[in-house]
Amino acid sequence: MLAFLLRFDKQVQSWLEMNSSLRSVESKAAKLKQSKDKPTLAQLVDTYNDLGLIDAHNHDASDSKYASMLGTWKSRGVHKVVLFGDVSEPSAIQTDMNAWLAYRQNPEQIIPFFSGFDLHDKWSLDTVKKYLEKGYFGLGEIAAASTVSPVVSKVAWKASDPLDGYLPQIYDLIADYKAPILLHIDPPSGLPVAKLEQALEEHPKTIFIFGHINAYTTPEQVDRLLAKHPNLYADFFAGFSVYDPAGGKKPEQFIPVIKKYADRFMLSTDSGYGLESEELAIDAMYRIIHLLDDPKLARKIAHDNLNAIIRAQPATNTQLELLRQLEQDTGKKYPLENLSKLEAGKILAEMKKG
Ligand SMILES: [Zn+2]
Repeated sequence: MLAFLLRFDKQVQSWLEMNSSLRSVESKAAKLKQSKDKPTLAQLVDTYNDLGLIDAHNHDASDSKYASMLGTWKSRGVHKVVLFGDVSEPSAIQTDMNAWLAYRQNPEQIIPFFSGFDLHDKWSLDTVKKYLEKGYFGLGEIAAASTVSPVVSKVAWKASDPLDGYLPQIYDLIADYKAPILLHIDPPSGLPVAKLEQALEEHPKTIFIFGHINAYTTPEQVDRLLAKHPNLYADFFAGFSVYDPAGGKKPEQFIPVIKKYADRFMLSTDSGYGLESEELAIDAMYRIIHLLDDPKLARKIAHDNLNAIIRAQPATNTQLELLRQLEQDTGKKYPLENLSKLEAGKILAEMKKG
């Protein structure tokens, strides 16, 4: 009973803290809206820092760039980063390891994903299981179809469509782990999207994230997909719509659809792909938050939606086994029942295990 009350007390406390930080964002945002000048990035960071912004799509594990970005993320209010490296090709095996290393060193800031498996090979199922057991939080970026992108269309392990190879079995496997899959699909129309829709229907328990859903689509196309498929989430590459001429520089046209599906959007930088810098891509995420003009709703898109997907994943057998070993070695006790993957991963990272 006492344990229950303590837990309840903690929940009430964090709820109160969340509300007071939201009120402070609301009052700062109202002030910023009064100014006629375009807000600077520093002003936007100061205003929206408490929303806990997460970058949902970042390739900085392709080399050691992530190490030099840690300071920028901190000063620019990017609280967490979904980190991976190369996409669906053999070199991703190494860059997945980079993402893991980054996570082990910064378990509060980094959310490691992986992409280094050949989805045409049945061993891919073992690899996916092994990585999820180890403590990775999701698959991505996976090339589920690509004929247009100058980079992704050339990768060795790309799928011809979102049902190619062992992808259907992978979708079922990852549903057991409650782990999402972040898909690159281009062109975002025609057969690739028809196959994606079939996958969404045939694997209703799997969480699909459509990578850079705003790239070369219209708000109407995005609306249609999200209306039809409740297990589809939308990664919004803000820099593309805000700063890339190819994106039309009319981000406001996407605001109604983001608001309509406020429980399923997330924001990303895609490491600033096609832009002058990654920092500009961070700046663009704040421009979208500012355009939303509703801090409570913006918090969902900036933080809550992705955070909920990460937090819902239970600790794996591999993690629990390591924790039991740790208990034996140290005499410490951990609350192994009901432990999440996030909590288990943090303990293991701090104890340099796994
Ligand atoms: Zn990407």
